[in-house]
Parts: sequence; structure tokens; C-alpha cells
Amino acid sequence: MRRLLESGGEGAWAYAWPMQRPAEAIREQSMPPAVLLIEDEPGIVDFVRRGMEAEGFHVQAELDGATGERRALSEGFDAVVLDLMLPGRSGLEVLASLRAAKPSLPVIVLTAKAEIEDRVAGLDAGAVDYLVKPFSLAELLARVRAQLRVATQQGTSTTLRGEDVEVDLLTRKVQRAGVPVTLSTTEFELLVHLLRNRGRVLSREQILSAVWGYQHDPATNIVDVYVGYLRRKLARPESPAPIDTVRAVGYRFGHAG
Ligand code: CA
Repeated sequence: MRRLLESGGEGAWAYAWPMQRPAEAIREQSMPPAVLLIEDEPGIVDFVRRGMEAEGFHVQAELDGATGERRALSEGFDAVVLDLMLPGRSGLEVLASLRAAKPSLPVIVLTAKAEIEDRVAGLDAGAVDYLVKPFSLAELLARVRAQLRVATQQGTSTTLRGEDVEVDLLTRKVQRAGVPVTLSTTEFELLVHLLRNRGRVLSREQILSAVWGYQHDPATNIVDVYVGYLRRKLARPESPAPIDTVRAVGYRFGHAG
């Protein structure tokens, strides 16, 4: 069922090429970052490989889970981009094995819309970050760079901080001023995206494609609805959530000036 839904979505791929910009990851490391892509759809392999190599990454691809897992465990990749629906060994099994053997190796998981339950299970298995297909190359690059930066700067730590909000990407625990906050999966993704771009104004469209990952009716108010949920959960009696509305544009994590 899921396999059918996944392969049936081929016509709906709507990838966007990123604007040219300096490859931050390259400046931060003397060697080109080596990425292992474990994905069985040749079209996606080709798309990701060409796009990432154009941005200075060194990309190796494996089409099945067992071979990909073996290489990820035995070779020194800086990051792994992992599809969930794979022949041989599932992405979740591969993820669990990587988490056990190499807990600080950044893994970005790719999921199809139809795999939403797997996606939640993937979080339990310790996914650091994931993208819903169809994703844009710009978003994939942003996630990989962010993960490499986290891995470089914080060793094995996977914590994002902004204002007095703290998010642990590995355990998915969220705190505001030390007080735990319980978020839904979508609220969590939204917060992580806002935090990663803290201080920057994000349009509703940018947030939609990053968090929901597929084309919505442009008139949808789902972003506003979820920002509302998130604000309510992050608010404290004496202090509203640090998410500003930027009139006619979108939202920004962190208050201006
Ligand atoms: Ca697949």
C-alpha cells in the first residue's frame, strides 16, 4: 500500500533548485564533506547527487539498505541522507543501527507523505532531522549544513537554543526557561525551523515548504494556526513566546532589536 503510494507520486515531484550561494560547509571544513545517500529511486539519487556536488559536497549513493548501512558503519562519512522505504533493509532498521554504533553521525531522513506513521516511528528510533518528499534541494542542503555545523561545533550535542528556548534534536525535548514544553510532531518541526533561522524573517511559503514539505493551497492558513499553537505552548505568564509576527510577510523567532 505504502509502496504504491510512494511510487505513484513520481509525477508530483516539484523540485526547486537553490539560488547560488557560497557553500558554508566548505568554508568550515578543509575537506569537502562526504555524504552517503541511501535511496532506491534513481531519479532522486541523480537529483540529489548533481545538486549536492554542484555545492561542493562529495556524494556516494547506495540503492539498498543493507549495503548503505554497511558503508555508513565502516566508512568515514560526515552525514547520511537516508530514505525510509528501501529494499533489503528498511530505513528505520538502518537508522537504529547507525544510532547505536555512531550516535553523533548526522542523519537526515527522507520520507514520503504516505509514510507518516513510519515517520513518527523514525523519530522514536532517533532521527535527528527529516524531510518530507517532495523536498527542495535548497531545503535538503540547509538541513545537511545545519547538521554538519551542529556536529562540528557541539561534538555529540544536538541542542538548538534561542532566547530562553532549548530544543534537543535527538531526544526531542523542548524547554522554555528550563520548564519542559510538550509539542506535537508538527509543532516541534515548526519550532526547529524557526530556531534554525532565528533572527531571520520567514515567509509563510518558506515555512510551509520547509515544515509541511509539499504544495499547499496558497490560501491556506495552516502556518498561522500552528504558530498560534506553538505560541500558546511556549508562552509563560509573564512572557509571551519569542515568535514575532512580521506584518504582511511572515514570522521571525526572536524579538527585533
Ligand atoms: Ca524509497
